[in-house]
Amino acid sequence: KMQGLSGREEKILVLVRLRPLSDKEIVSNEVADWECINDTTILYRNTLREGSTFPSAYSFDRVFRGDCATRQVYEEGAKEIALSVVSGINSSIFAYGQTSSGKTYTMVGITEYTVADIFDYIHKHEERAFVLKFSAIEIYNNEAVRDLLSTDNTPLRLLDDPERGTVVEKVTEESLRDWNHLKELLSICEAQRQIGETLLNERSSRSHQIIRLTIESSAREFLGKGNSTTLAASVNFIDLAGSERASQALSAGARLKEGCHINRSLLTLGTVIRKLSKGRNGHINYRDSKLTRILQPCLGGNARTAIVCTLSPARSHVEQTRNTLLFACCAK
Ligand code: ADP
Ligand code: MG
Repeated sequence: KMQGLSGREEKILVLVRLRPLSDKEIVSNEVADWECINDTTILYRNTLREGSTFPSAYSFDRVFRGDCATRQVYEEGAKEIALSVVSGINSSIFAYGQTSSGKTYTMVGITEYTVADIFDYIHKHEERAFVLKFSAIEIYNNEAVRDLLSTDNTPLRLLDDPERGTVVEKVTEESLRDWNHLKELLSICEAQRQIGETLLNERSSRSHQIIRLTIESSAREFLGKGNSTTLAASVNFIDLAGSERASQALSAGARLKEGCHINRSLLTLGTVIRKLSKGRNGHINYRDSKLTRILQPCLGGNARTAIVCTLSPARSHVEQTRNTLLFACCAK
């Protein structure tokens, strides 16, 4: 297992969030077959399939029922890892699940709560000067990296910086002023993704989005005296492409280039995460996908990782739900 700054064994935090049936699903007589029976176990109960061979109970660090608010998923799940950024520790929070399972809903909320808590922390630590930076990119096809804060569609290049590792060249970084500024930037990102949506059919289900918050801080008493040390760390919120792309691409023999690429980056992520969950020994193939290349400094080493696996309770989605749970089990 990974060794954290605190010296204790650090593993990937695996959270599972069940969403409620949507109104549309209820109207079409969809049935909910999944139930969280306590804080750590989710159960499949389909009376029609009683006696079948697949396991019906799955346990994780924490599972959240369909009626849990995102606030609770944040407070009791993601918060500790997201806020380690203020102590100078890099972290990544992923949302993994099929399209419409609640990835974006969950990640937007977690991002907002994290920023609110970071501002709170900054106001309580006047002895230090802070800069909180926000950037947002989209990785489409595991190839094109696009700046979600820019209307320029030119793909961004990845560069290898000897000190910082892989960096996204020319990515827009905004210094976050306040809460309203965050809301403004999030709506710009959302609009950029929407534009893509009409141009490239179903974009958000085919692309990964990474929102990165970087905090830099230095002690005020040393500012301008040349001997101040700057503490810097990032937290990444990753809204992954729909996981159905990975399984579809596999079952369809990877006919489509696109399916193949999304498949590759989700599979590479899966491999990286599996290896990290088993400890840091041995080679980890970060360079096999742009997603893992960009996230490398915020994955292994002292970095902390949480994955929120989002699930639909609907009977008709059972295959995808099980695939998501298998991915979640691999990350434990
Ligand atoms: P994804 O990003 O995985 O495709 P979304 O986050 O867009 O899925 O969620 C699909 C729909 O379900 C949205 O309308 C969203 O508001 C709703 N939704 C998702 N999760 C929840 C939840 N936990 N509670 C209530 N509504 C939810
Ligand atoms: Mg989404």
